[in-house]
Amino acid sequence: ANSETGKGQRPVAEETVQLLRALGVPDKSWRNGTRTVRSPITGEIIGEVPEASPEDAAQAVARSVAAFEAWRTVPAPRRGELVRLLGEELRAHKAELGRLVTLEAGKIVSEGLGEVQEMIDICDFAVGLSRQLYGLTIASERPGHRMMETWHPVGPVGIITAFNFPVAVWSWNAALALVAGDSVIWKPSEKTPLTALAVQALFERAASAFGGAPEGLSQLLIGGADVGAVLTDDTRVPVVSATGSTRMGRIVGERVARRFGRSILELGGNNAAIVRPSADLDLSLRGIAFAAMGTAGQRCTTLRRLIVDGAVYDALIPRLVRAYSSVGIGDPREAGTLIGPLIDKAAYEGMQKALDAARAAGARIHGGERVRADERPDAYYVRPALVEIGEQIEIVKHETFAPILYVLRTSSLEEAIALHNGVPQGLSSSIFTNDLREAETFLSAEGSDCGIANVNIGPSGAEIGGAFGGEKETGGGRESGSDAWKAYMRRATNTINYSRSLPLAQGVSFDI
Ligand code: NAD
Repeated sequence: ANSETGKGQRPVAEETVQLLRALGVPDKSWRNGTRTVRSPITGEIIGEVPEASPEDAAQAVARSVAAFEAWRTVPAPRRGELVRLLGEELRAHKAELGRLVTLEAGKIVSEGLGEVQEMIDICDFAVGLSRQLYGLTIASERPGHRMMETWHPVGPVGIITAFNFPVAVWSWNAALALVAGDSVIWKPSEKTPLTALAVQALFERAASAFGGAPEGLSQLLIGGADVGAVLTDDTRVPVVSATGSTRMGRIVGERVARRFGRSILELGGNNAAIVRPSADLDLSLRGIAFAAMGTAGQRCTTLRRLIVDGAVYDALIPRLVRAYSSVGIGDPREAGTLIGPLIDKAAYEGMQKALDAARAAGARIHGGERVRADERPDAYYVRPALVEIGEQIEIVKHETFAPILYVLRTSSLEEAIALHNGVPQGLSSSIFTNDLREAETFLSAEGSDCGIANVNIGPSGAEIGGAFGGEKETGGGRESGSDAWKAYMRRATNTINYSRSLPLAQGVSFDI
């Protein structure tokens, strides 16, 4: 019982202090400030961080512009060296930073470490990229002319992040932006400023090992939406990358567009998996369990809707119900825990509200109740909920950021794809099938309408090598791998005339 409840663990606050110091975060940046930080593990206070004001934010933008003007002239492979050093700092401090993610965001230990590994991976990717910021050479229609495109640094990049990937999302953006020649300003979630302070401390170590990085190249602004608003509204910030709820993205996207800035929006998902009659059910069960319950349902790519063919429904769902009723829930620091806490009380209330709506619609609900409330009255642990529901009603079309998996029964692939695409969000998706035609149909133009579509793996747990992001209310942004770097640069098309005459394009004549 001890290992389940987390008794015998060191007090969270004490461990936090030790980790912050080990990571080189100065005491003044997390003590005696105005914003209280609580650990979702126990609900106890683990920091009192000072916040930036909107005026501080405006000054940070000015510093960022100056840093950009110096950084853009540093050769890209040399910029890559700074990111390589950042990756080295992350490798050296993976254990401490991963553990801090666990304490502040409530992820189980292996997921905390996995998040830091993802940062290391994107640094490696960006280092290679620093020698591959390729533009095209284009055939000119005019004799003695050559066309090409050149990719240039674009300016300070504002990075607004969510609580659930408190450090990795910054690195997806920052590693690319830095090799692209941009400066960055980060506004982390107000729920997770401590991990952000730790990352900033590691960045500063990398910058001092690098030598000669301009002051203010990467800055951290702790604060709420008012500080974020400075980044969305300031014309000196040409790119704003914002990760979080669709509600937030609607505001941010509009404000950035109003001044013709570029936004990269990574918003809510409502991810589904289709299970077809030919599916390997053992594999499907494992894929579904991780995608639906992992991170306590608090991933943007969490599996939220399971669309199961009637032919395998009774073979799969009772097994899933058993997995749900036996999964280890508790202190995320404990071996054996797979489901840590929800981030806060509001998340718990949101979950109960959604379950009430499903219940009122006649759904059959397994789990969903609060657990461990006696020993952890200020923390919110829940049993993940499996909700068998007859129809895709309104609540199913809404992203509730908690471990709720709605199960819908279908009888054809066409019906399954229609249900799948019948929600406002378009982030990630998967199909479990061994039928080649079905798999390819799902990946085709008439299949999944999401930014990520998988076969025989769940929708969550993406690798950094691919472009990450989604369509519709997910916002349309792409980050991380593939050619996502282009969003952090500006493209110039160049035409060079190496002849002695001046032919005009399209045969236009203009003789003076
Ligand atoms: P949230 O929208 O409450 O907050 C996200 C960030 O936006 C925070 O830093 C917040 O301070 C800031 N913010 C809020 N309003 C703002 C405004 N008006 N102007 C500027 N900044 C503002 O989200 P959350 O609860 O922290 O995170 C959960 C949500 O994030 C879920 O919807 C999840 O799906 C989504 N998410 C998406 C991705 C993705 O890549 N698509 C990744 C992680 C999380």
